Amino acid sequence: MVVLCAGLTARYCGRCQSSDLGPIKPRFGSIPVFSQPWWRRSSGFMMVRRCLLEHSKWDNPLPLSPERTAEHLDLEKKEKDNTLPTGTIDLVSLRDVDIREEEAKDIANTEQTQTEVPYIKKEVEYVDKEATTLTKVLYEKKETKVVDKEEHAQTLVSFTKEEAVEVDKVEQTRIKVTYNIVFVTAEAAPYSKTGGLGDVCGSLPIALAACGHRVMVLSPRYLNGILNSHYASAKDLEKHINVSCFGGDQEVAFFHEYRAGVDWVFVDHPCYHRPGSLYGDEHGTFGDNQFRFALLCHAACEAPLVLPLGGYTYGENCLFLVNDWHASLVPVLLGAKYRPHGVYKDARSILIIHNLAHQGVEPAITYENLGLPAQWYGALEWIFPTWARKHALDTGATVNILKGAIVTADRILTVSQGYAWEITTAEGGQGLDELLSSRESVLNGITNGIDVDTWNPETDKHIPFNYSVDDLSGKSLCKAALQKALELAVRPDCPLIGFIGRLDYQKGTDVILSTMPELLQDDVQFIMLGSGDPDTEQWMRWAESSYKEKFRGWVGFNEPFSHHITAGCDILLMPSRFEPCGLNQLYAMRYGSVPVVHCTGGLRDTVETFDPFVDEDGRGTGWAFSPLSEESMLAALRTAIKTYREHKSSWEGLMKRGMLKDFSWDSAAAKYELIMEWALMDPPYVR
Ligand code: ADP
Repeated sequence: MVVLCAGLTARYCGRCQSSDLGPIKPRFGSIPVFSQPWWRRSSGFMMVRRCLLEHSKWDNPLPLSPERTAEHLDLEKKEKDNTLPTGTIDLVSLRDVDIREEEAKDIANTEQTQTEVPYIKKEVEYVDKEATTLTKVLYEKKETKVVDKEEHAQTLVSFTKEEAVEVDKVEQTRIKVTYNIVFVTAEAAPYSKTGGLGDVCGSLPIALAACGHRVMVLSPRYLNGILNSHYASAKDLEKHINVSCFGGDQEVAFFHEYRAGVDWVFVDHPCYHRPGSLYGDEHGTFGDNQFRFALLCHAACEAPLVLPLGGYTYGENCLFLVNDWHASLVPVLLGAKYRPHGVYKDARSILIIHNLAHQGVEPAITYENLGLPAQWYGALEWIFPTWARKHALDTGATVNILKGAIVTADRILTVSQGYAWEITTAEGGQGLDELLSSRESVLNGITNGIDVDTWNPETDKHIPFNYSVDDLSGKSLCKAALQKALELAVRPDCPLIGFIGRLDYQKGTDVILSTMPELLQDDVQFIMLGSGDPDTEQWMRWAESSYKEKFRGWVGFNEPFSHHITAGCDILLMPSRFEPCGLNQLYAMRYGSVPVVHCTGGLRDTVETFDPFVDEDGRGTGWAFSPLSEESMLAALRTAIKTYREHKSSWEGLMKRGMLKDFSWDSAAAKYELIMEWALMDPPYVR
């Protein structure tokens, strides 16, 4: 209340703050006093009256008596016409009460907000005993009116809200600014995917296109035997260009498919045609990945200028959304290669970091291959600290392509807010924390959405039984089918724990391995799907033969099976060491499987630990444990298992709360729009 008064008085009172008070007649001390009758009718005046009362309260401890008031007031200065408020502040005389009753009526007529109401009551309370009867009436009257006002106000508000929505819609269609957006990415589902990057670049563009933007996605046309059919609908645009890098001219072609409102453009070159995964094969990572993705970036910079998609090019005034290190040469090229020639002067670039662990680091000598002017070397230069060098002659000099984008992109985004903060710390910054901190003002995090059509338990074609939050019977059938398919005992009472993901140190698979013997002493079943680290793959094969009754390990990348596990398991385990966003926990919740995750990055942002003592049915969607250790992971899993076995209704609550969460791209896409707007508001960072 005091705060309210301070605010009000500051607006009107010469004592609190000099403002235009209109005609001020003699001052009593520092309190301004008014004589114009019209003031009484204005709500502004009411503020002043209250201000006077407030000041009076400060100066004179309450309750004020007429005697005390008289002591403080010079009655001789009382105005002859006795128009109130006058030069006197006989606040507690009966007459004044009368006047305040008048005022109160005025207030009742003019009051706009409920916040002032308690104050009126207070004012009444200060009145002398003699005025008790009168003040009671006043109080009641006031209350009655307040109630009326409240109802009226509510009607007004709801009406205004509805109106506002309508107006907003009309306004939006009228004045919506749309952008020409160019995604550059190494993967885009369903064409190519090894992880979350593919999922995001396969669904976010569609969400942005649905918002009215013109969206193009540029990624390589991987022909590795398995993916070839994914590009069957993409037509050759018959536009061949030469890209100058790696000591010569490289000819690239473009294939195009228009789907879901998005121009999917595939850069074609022999370096993308080879067996294996997108980045490597059984012998390890491809040695020419720097070349492969430098080529993608060069081609991506040309595409908006040369490809007449739907009859028109995207043109120079576009917004590049560059994803991870593979696309990070784009902002550097804009500044180094195009802008000096007056091209892309008004374009902007936003770097989206899906995983800071991969930075595209190669020896410094490779810089000259990248097709950049020599004077831009500093943008990519990266010197490893002495302790990280491999031998005495190693100078530690490298080029770091992700760093190039960090220092040249107009804005930087990560895939969750938690991760946006983590990467500015020494623990999470993977050596780039200081650079990222230096760009903190343009660094934001937006939690990924998911493709709610592909990942929908009601319609998913990859699961044997469909189900919804209203009828979960299909989920039990999916579990039974999964147990059967894995040749595990078909037991509804036995908790089935799942893990899906890359077999990588990041994903905490080492903690799973070391915890497994103890975990499997309990009556549980465990299914693990993944590929990556050969030792972990080997361990999975060993564990399957050692724990025949309880453990199954599926080595490989199998998308339909990942859907079935997500639907069929009860608990999804994600002990990631760090997790920029993580999608599996979102899929799990959407499918009524309860995530148990390490409390880090996007996992911390999206999984709320179950608390059975809040509300009637508890609150939360899973368990987020910390620190990442065998003990805390086991403790979290055992709590989950106990809840599953012994508290069926709590478990159902957990499942349903997860299923009802909105993980669609809608709200994330709106946030992306805002960031794009901000990017275009500022001048290009590198001119
Ligand atoms: P990351 O991008 O770090 O690999 P995310 O959780 O963000 O992790 O995304 C992983 C995506 O890849 C999910 O869609 C997951 O289902 C999928 N995925 C990972 N490994 C496999 C696998 N072996 N088989 C099928 N899908 C997989």
